[in-house]
Amino acid sequence: MNLIPIIQSHRPFVIAGPCSAETQEQLIETAVQIAKNKAVHGLRAGVWKPRTRPDSFEGVGEEALPWLVEAGRITGLPTTTEVANKQHVEKALKAGIDILWIGARTTVNPFAVQEIADALKDVSIPVMIKNPVNPDVELWLGAFERLEKAGIKELVAIHRGFSVYNHEKYRNEPSWEIPIALKERLPDLPMLCDPSHIAGKRDLIFEISQKAMDLNFNGLMIETHLNPEMAWSDAQQQVTVGQLTTILSNLVLRSKDIQGDIAGDLDKLRTMTAALDERIFSLLVERMKVSEEVGIFKRENNITILQQEHWAKMIANRLKNANEQELSATFIRQFMDAIHQESIRHQEKVMNK
Ligand code: PEP
Ligand code: MN
Repeated sequence: MNLIPIIQSHRPFVIAGPCSAETQEQLIETAVQIAKNKAVHGLRAGVWKPRTRPDSFEGVGEEALPWLVEAGRITGLPTTTEVANKQHVEKALKAGIDILWIGARTTVNPFAVQEIADALKDVSIPVMIKNPVNPDVELWLGAFERLEKAGIKELVAIHRGFSVYNHEKYRNEPSWEIPIALKERLPDLPMLCDPSHIAGKRDLIFEISQKAMDLNFNGLMIETHLNPEMAWSDAQQQVTVGQLTTILSNLVLRSKDIQGDIAGDLDKLRTMTAALDERIFSLLVERMKVSEEVGIFKRENNITILQQEHWAKMIANRLKNANEQELSATFIRQFMDAIHQESIRHQEKVMNK
């Protein structure tokens, strides 16, 4: 099939379906219900499930492939499932699945990605690649290169967030800068967002989907189940068909192109931000010159560069004013850490002279 022109002619391009294929009835009924909504363009279902812990439901396996193909035939929607090795690829191709996707726990492993790429030599099928579980653009990029070298022409990225040790709001941190960096490297690559795996809970799916639209993603993959509470996997994050409809119809789609009068107004604001950035950068240059003087002082007095207590005090002071200045504590922390790193680099430069 030709997936990319379909993605390009629908915004958002939407893939929906259960996390896992559970029974033939469940899958076909879900597909039929979903397909009543013309805003959905593809069907998903996991057949082999990569589970973090053993003893959870690991998918029905190849038995479910003909159910998915049948669901596609009845609804007229293209079908997609996750493949993690050569056998999965061969079975999915043989069954007639339209699109394959590589999951986050597979993208992370170049051996597995290469095995899939080798199994796809001389095959013409679109492949969607989820980001690796860790926030590594190079690894994600590497997976695209492996598939491209195998001759796969239709490639799509899916952003599903990144694992963190202590997850608070999201199951997987969105770290939007990573898909944005991928897009910088591969500007023509269509990009979908999987808000279900980022969120981990259904209440957050709308806001993540809206954010993806505002960042100009091409589409969404949303886990949808007839009875999410009873789902065999990812029960908390799946939505009902009704909720899917509400989410999709409430999305506000803003245009990427700036037209008419507003272009001038936006230009003025952009000129102002560029001028302010210029000032910030010249202050940083000055700041680092002083760091070098500090470095010379430490060198002459035989003092270590890192003065942990002093730095902890500086950060604490900054964070104290965070609310007042309407800057987030996370931003202040990251900004101060970046200044600190750069300052250490400048001090090292003079220290070793
Ligand atoms: C899934 O889509 O059901 C899945 C297992 O996703 P991920 O690879 O993003 O964890
Ligand atoms: Mn899932």
